[in-house]
Amino acid sequence: MENLDEKILQAKTLEELEKVRVELFGKKGFLSLEFAKMKTIPASEKKAFAEGLNNTKERLQTLFDTRYELLKKEEIELILQSEAIDVSLYESRGEKGALHPVMDTMDKIIDYFVALNFSVESGPMVEDDFHNFEALNLPKHHPARDMQDTFYFKDGGLLRTHTSPVQIRTMMQTKPPIRMIAPGSVFRRDYDLTHTPMFHQVEGLVVEEKGKVSFANLKAILVDFLHYMFGDVEVRFRPSFFPFTEPSAEVDISCIFCGGDGCRVCSHTGWLEVLGCGIVDPNVFKAVGYENVSGYAFGLGVERFAMLIHRIPDLRTLFEGDIRLLEQFR
Ligand SMILES: [Zn+2]
Repeated sequence: MENLDEKILQAKTLEELEKVRVELFGKKGFLSLEFAKMKTIPASEKKAFAEGLNNTKERLQTLFDTRYELLKKEEIELILQSEAIDVSLYESRGEKGALHPVMDTMDKIIDYFVALNFSVESGPMVEDDFHNFEALNLPKHHPARDMQDTFYFKDGGLLRTHTSPVQIRTMMQTKPPIRMIAPGSVFRRDYDLTHTPMFHQVEGLVVEEKGKVSFANLKAILVDFLHYMFGDVEVRFRPSFFPFTEPSAEVDISCIFCGGDGCRVCSHTGWLEVLGCGIVDPNVFKAVGYENVSGYAFGLGVERFAMLIHRIPDLRTLFEGDIRLLEQFR
């Protein structure tokens, strides 16, 4: 019997203990064999024999259970130790990513107008003639259509040349007042130092009851916006022409490279053109069925802003996918 107790106590792992269990409590184990002897024992000794055997069984079982609990605990401890993570261990991390300068600039522009309660609208990139031209006071054969080298599809559809069709769609879907910007990519057949076939615009539109907005409002908001983007710069408005606004203006800031003295970037004029804007032409309102309203609109090229802010000389580098460009903006 001592020997059996020892067997249990000497089991060092659950695996060893399991072998002992089979040896003692299994079908052909020690206890089964002992109980089998009952048949051959004389009736007078049976009672004492059974009592002794039951006591032994109970003792062994208690011993076994205690041993089992202990070994189980030890095993869990071992697993916990082997799987523990040393949080103080140094690990070299991957390089941090960066937002593309165009997206970064776009976000900054959107932030400004969202803070002034402008909604951010979007629309399809594949447009039709009505939304991209006609409704914007650019009827067929209008000479200003030549200003925008358009990608056409065989069915007459086109890739939008500006985000202005989003303004048309928003006006046709909602009632005034409107206070919106439309950021997004636009497409033109153009490729050189300052043009790529795809680029990004942010356009803005405000429509109010007739007489509630004027060029003065437009001017105030754009001057503040340009100070937000470029810091302490001079801003000037120059009369210009766009088919969808009347009167129209182009907006310049004093050159951020030479401070207005004249340099290569500003073509020695001291000024950099950054925006187009104007009072919405009544024909545009007529096309979308608006009456007794007035409004202003403006538009800008995001790449132009990004190039000026980050001093990038060639627009095309923004789209070449060279990771070294992005690495500079981490
Ligand atoms: Zn300059």
